Amino acid sequence: MDIPIPSRQLFINGDWKSPILNKRIPVINPSTQQTIGDIPAATKEDVDAAVAAAKTALSRNKGADWASASGAVRARYLRAIAAKVTEKKSELAKLEAIDSGKPLDEAAWDMDDVAGCFEFYADLAEKLDAKQKAPVSLPMDTFRSHVLKEPIGVVGLITPWNYPMLMATWKVAPALAAGCAAILKPSELASLTCLELGEICKEVGLPPGVLNILTGLGPEAGAPLASHPDVDKIAFTGSSATGSKIMTAAAQLVKPVSLELGGKSPLIVFEDVDLDKAAEWAIFGCFWTNGQICSATSRLIVHESIATEFLNRMVKWIKNIKISDPLEEGCRLGPVVSEGQYEKILKFVSNAKSEGATILTGGSRPEHLKKGFFVEPTIITDVTTSMQIWKEEVFGPVLCVKTFSTEEEAIDLANDTIYGLGAAVISNDLERCERVTKAFKAGIVWVNCSQPCFTQAPWGGIKRSGFGRELGEWGLDNYLSVKQVTQYISDEPW
Ligand code: NAD
Repeated sequence: MDIPIPSRQLFINGDWKSPILNKRIPVINPSTQQTIGDIPAATKEDVDAAVAAAKTALSRNKGADWASASGAVRARYLRAIAAKVTEKKSELAKLEAIDSGKPLDEAAWDMDDVAGCFEFYADLAEKLDAKQKAPVSLPMDTFRSHVLKEPIGVVGLITPWNYPMLMATWKVAPALAAGCAAILKPSELASLTCLELGEICKEVGLPPGVLNILTGLGPEAGAPLASHPDVDKIAFTGSSATGSKIMTAAAQLVKPVSLELGGKSPLIVFEDVDLDKAAEWAIFGCFWTNGQICSATSRLIVHESIATEFLNRMVKWIKNIKISDPLEEGCRLGPVVSEGQYEKILKFVSNAKSEGATILTGGSRPEHLKKGFFVEPTIITDVTTSMQIWKEEVFGPVLCVKTFSTEEEAIDLANDTIYGLGAAVISNDLERCERVTKAFKAGIVWVNCSQPCFTQAPWGGIKRSGFGRELGEWGLDNYLSVKQVTQYISDEPW
């Protein structure tokens, strides 16, 4: 079941522009493996044009430009974008489902989150007006000091494919709320909804150049953006390997970066839990969006006394999940995003087998689906901490399991990773949960749940999961610089 795919160009300076080299990238439906459309492929010259448009948006009509506009004015545009997303929710959700492979219901929830995120930052843009000129108390009354929070300038926003429009919104909404002008470079694997954001900007009359959208390949469109001398900041979400390249490019110009990178997040389940409820969170934590979530709790650390029964219940759950084309009614799991990801995931499974692990369930294509990049939810046991499956991010529906006997052992296993994005603990003993929370080396901790995410709360990791925080007020601070203003107010000579 395919739907019409809008044919779009690059969104530069408030209008659609063909890429200078006229290159296009095919869009492949991961359920059918059919090519269903294409997207423009930007290169360095297009990046230059978009950056120039963003710069102009910050300097056009000095005093009435985007950066100088009041937060209240910016908020009006953000609310108009939110309203358009809500109006177009059904069509956007279908595009997201067909492009990324996520079930239609989930894609529709993403659109609600997208609209909510624009609304949230509209509110913060208004509050920013009131926060300007925040006084700083000084130890000498001959001086007075205050702080101005100012937009950083032109920002490059590079995003992944797992939540295409939502990950873009986590950056676009606070950047615009702060008064920055932005160039968004979504993933070449799923760009359709981000291009529709361009159409929405046109419809709400967002001033030209405030948001530019360049689709294209990472090295051809993302790299020139990261290293562009007129881009004042890069905000990146994606793999740790690409994050490291972006940081290297930014370092040449001492350009600030914020990085939301990969993870290998643990979920500890203690022996005192309600097995069914905990199993449901474990399923959700690892298999939601097919495990293609940076914070997926892909390492289950379960108390040895309940491990067998717990895994039995998880397997029972998995057998009842509907795996199908994401547009089909009742679909719970769609295909993974691309052939490359499909092959990578199956290679992880075969490597685990050859290293001596046991595939408890899954591990291949579901029998009833002859085409499409479908992978069964997979649970792997008999895992050791030296195995690849324990150490590396799969970014697919694959859970590896270890058992423990003491709390200390569980914490050591949980922290045994180069990453530090999410971590979760399930236990009825809340004092124990508090101890474990403090011991986790991670940016986000879930207690008696896994994965819920709220626009109001900070999101981000430590260690190789990156640095900087998105969402909440922290998300806005990513795009603001702090200017100290100190005035000598005494009549006496200094
Ligand atoms: P990726 O690193 O391959 O690509 C991310 C983006 O970077 C894409 O737009 C890509 O085109 C671009 N890119 C690639 N090479 C580039 C280069 N040399 N210079 C500039 N840009 C370049 O990641 P992906 O496969 O799209 O996404 C999956 C990864 O994202 C996983 O590791 C996942 O954990 C991570 N992720 C993290 C978060 C978070 O909040 N921490 C959220 C979602 C995804």
